Amino acid sequence: MPLTIPQIERLYRTEGAARYGMEAINQEQHALQCALLAQQAAARPELVAAALLHDLGHLLYALVPEAPEGDDLHEFRALPFLRGEYPEAVLAPIRLHVAAKRFLCAVDEGYWGTLSPASRRSLELQGGPFNPQEVEAFLGEPHAMDAVALRRWDDQAKSPTRETPGWHHFRKILEQVSLREDADIAA
Ligand code: FE
Ligand code: FE
Repeated sequence: MPLTIPQIERLYRTEGAARYGMEAINQEQHALQCALLAQQAAARPELVAAALLHDLGHLLYALVPEAPEGDDLHEFRALPFLRGEYPEAVLAPIRLHVAAKRFLCAVDEGYWGTLSPASRRSLELQGGPFNPQEVEAFLGEPHAMDAVALRRWDDQAKSPTRETPGWHHFRKILEQVSLREDADIAA
């Protein structure tokens, strides 16, 4: 069941504004900050859209109940709601953003030290740093480097004070990269 752009926006404004997880900011702020950082880095619109939607899975617990403990697999949860609506250049970085953290922990010595306590805790549940074979496999994935770029913005998108544009701004990017002809008028 695909989500329309207004439905996505509503989810972030309601569920997203209420859901803080283990970080200091809510999911809506995190999404907008991540998309802003992507845009400031001159990322393609598909990657800005992926940055905006990368944690949409955290907002879908009402639709897809979560397992009580362990890895929440949130990077996969939003995909059934976006497939067919957005190209692989949007979907793949979302799907790979947790893998990108495990990759960076394996290849970048200083990276782990930059992670928030919440992110370190979830890393363990997500399987820890990749081994060399997993690093190789990750590098073979299309859009792997997009996922790594997204991951770095993701890690920085946790500021309690950063100002961002609102949905009127990012909605246009979703419309731009949508595969639907009528995305701008979908209700
Ligand atoms: Fe995430
Ligand atoms: Fe995130």
